[in-house]
Amino acid sequence: MSETDETTAPRRTIGYVLPVYNEEENIGAFHAALIEATSQRPDYDFEFVYVDDGSRDDSLARLLELRAEDDRVTVLSFSRNFGHQIAVTAGLDASGQSAAVIVMDTDLQDPPRVSLEMVDLWEGGVDVVFAQRRSRRDSAFKRASAYGFYWVLDRMASIEIPRNVGDFRLMDAKVVQEVSRYREHDRFLRGIVAHVGFRQEALLFDRDERFAGESGYPLRKMISFAASGIVGFSTAPLRWISRLGFVISALSILLALYVAGVRIFSPEQSVPGWAFLGVGMFLLSGLQLIMMGVIGSYLGRVYVETQDRPLYSIALAARGSRDGAS
Ligand code: UDP
Ligand code: MG
Repeated sequence: MSETDETTAPRRTIGYVLPVYNEEENIGAFHAALIEATSQRPDYDFEFVYVDDGSRDDSLARLLELRAEDDRVTVLSFSRNFGHQIAVTAGLDASGQSAAVIVMDTDLQDPPRVSLEMVDLWEGGVDVVFAQRRSRRDSAFKRASAYGFYWVLDRMASIEIPRNVGDFRLMDAKVVQEVSRYREHDRFLRGIVAHVGFRQEALLFDRDERFAGESGYPLRKMISFAASGIVGFSTAPLRWISRLGFVISALSILLALYVAGVRIFSPEQSVPGWAFLGVGMFLLSGLQLIMMGVIGSYLGRVYVETQDRPLYSIALAARGSRDGAS
């Protein structure tokens, strides 16, 4: 520990936000690894905010044991399972005095030593360091579904959300403050962080296998999570309704031309009666889809307004008399 740090600058705190759901077998090993990693940076104070997301096993008791030994540990326990994204949000809300906050899983899939590399980048002026998986040791199915999800998200979302990035990231205090202004219920945090802006950089890492226990993200939850990523950041599906309507209406016009052509050029082949029904059916359903799309585009606006996101985030304001500039 350098003496100068102690005397000149006030010590800064780095907060860890650690969501826990049924991790009784992992918490001990995880916390030991985390303590070992963070002990390499004695120039910072650390705060460990564990959020127990309504675990059904003995996770809470394990966490309270950690707290009894070390008062840098904070334990929040939910009244029921609210889901990983909400647990992380609660942790972020609770780590207001930290200069930087690191969010990571507690199953040892996100290695604690990588979080120190994040701190190095942050000291170099990066506001958000997100851990990007260079490799993943997941099943072929999980890999394929993740690939498909990012492919769709890339094409539809209004902002660029980095690929193969989970919620393992470091955020500067000012980013945390901005992220906490987004209070939407259906949360897709990595999208929100991308939306907030600031200087963001990727840090490549190898994601380990889960230490013990099972993933709290079964397929059902993964699909609904993917849906909130897409629906939360895009109103494109609503706009597609109109496009489909226009295509079908155009088809009805082509069909009408075809029918008229048959009537004029080879009347012996024309079957009476079907033209009105056939063309009418296409035209009407096309018109209906266009109208639904019109309603959809208003609905999209209502949706965006009800999300009530902040209009902007300011990174710097230089104003007033020179000495008071911040
Ligand atoms: N988690 C949580 N609430 C849930 C599910 C998971 O807080 O409803 C936590 C879990 O304890 C872990 C992290 O979120 O620390 C990531 O979950 P998991 O490992 O199950 O997801 P995967 O790594 O399989 O995507
Ligand atoms: Mg995991």
